[in-house]
Amino acid sequence: MCMGIARPHAHTRRQFLRQAAAVGSLVCAFGQGWQNLLGMTKPMQSGFDLLVKGGKVVDPSQRISAFRDIAIRDGKVVAVAENLNEAQARQVLDARGKIVTPGLIDVHVHVYEGVAPLGIPADPNCIAKGVTTVVDAGSAGAHTFPGFRRNVINVVDTRVFALLNISVVGQSTYSEDNPYGELLNLGYANPKLAIRTIERNRDVILGIKVRLSRPIAGEHDLQALKLAKEAASAVGLPLMVHIGDTHTPLPVILSEMSKGDVVTHSFRGSNGGILDDRGMVLKEVRSAMDRGVHLDVGHGAGSFSFDTAEKALKQGVVPGTISSDVHQFNVNGPVFDLATTLSKFLHLGLTLDEVIQRASTNPANLFGFPNGLGTLKVGAAADVALFSLVEGDFRFEDSLKQTRLGHQKLVPVATVKAGRIYGSAVMPVVRAG
Ligand SMILES: [Zn+2]
Repeated sequence: MCMGIARPHAHTRRQFLRQAAAVGSLVCAFGQGWQNLLGMTKPMQSGFDLLVKGGKVVDPSQRISAFRDIAIRDGKVVAVAENLNEAQARQVLDARGKIVTPGLIDVHVHVYEGVAPLGIPADPNCIAKGVTTVVDAGSAGAHTFPGFRRNVINVVDTRVFALLNISVVGQSTYSEDNPYGELLNLGYANPKLAIRTIERNRDVILGIKVRLSRPIAGEHDLQALKLAKEAASAVGLPLMVHIGDTHTPLPVILSEMSKGDVVTHSFRGSNGGILDDRGMVLKEVRSAMDRGVHLDVGHGAGSFSFDTAEKALKQGVVPGTISSDVHQFNVNGPVFDLATTLSKFLHLGLTLDEVIQRASTNPANLFGFPNGLGTLKVGAAADVALFSLVEGDFRFEDSLKQTRLGHQKLVPVATVKAGRIYGSAVMPVVRAG
């Protein structure tokens, strides 16, 4: 029976999400009814804590795209096979008719709620949507990172890693009503402090982020980029560069980037993108890719164009990772979540296996994550996502208000992280402050 519930206070969201996963009736309010998939808890016998049974498993890390059961014990995957015995499992999650993937990894999100104006709460937007691991792309800089670690990374259920903004203030300055970015004063770009912060937090910081658009870095984008690269090189980690509307042309920016570095917002429209005036992929983009520079999507509020994506894909340029750049100003559309972003790429012609690869295996290979994320291999962390692949007519919108009619949509149903089940919840997103 479904019972009405009051919206939880911000501080209790995490607790609520757990509760929602544990107590079926609470989740009814959100309409997915996933709890019906969960069998009764039985007394523990020898065997598995949880069996995800009967789903179509898509795990590009093992080239599996077939019906498999996944057995979990002590927070780890212990078997992936056909017809594992239900009697051996303490609890069964019925995945029949569902797509089962490794817990997804989104390498570009903003979850520093309350400090970066674009920040959103992690759990309702990530783990509740099939995304067990995220990389916050530069919301925090050296001065604001300790708070990010203490109040977000250490507290939320989603696994949160970070790219440290080269600006000490991170993305705390910029909002719709205060459109002044973190690098307009180049004095805020401080490699020394960035290096020190990374050395103290290497377990969770995976690289450096720099945003180069004019409202953020003014006319000294190239100097800012060089300072960011200096810090990244010193600590031996990759650099993620936000492109678009830059003072310096993209080919010059790319010439500063090396193997393992990441361009985000690759498929943006208008100026500063990867296409020339005739819609052809710039030769400098191809040569950067040839030397190991990686293209990430980073959909965002202003950085994904169907037109650009269609032209680039037609010319054989495929992004290595598909990320959402979900934040306060796009979470209610056009981004919504990673699953919707992946669905847009299904419409663009990528296969289901190809899109899942770009949100699991490829991100895991790109950054130095701890082993066992983005895969369902035996021994890996038991991070699993269940989706419905719904057929119908879905109008998808890009960042330029262009739409396309797609016919398949990935809809998150349930998430398992380290063996623990989280329901799919759609929670109201409240603007901080
Ligand atoms: Zn971003």
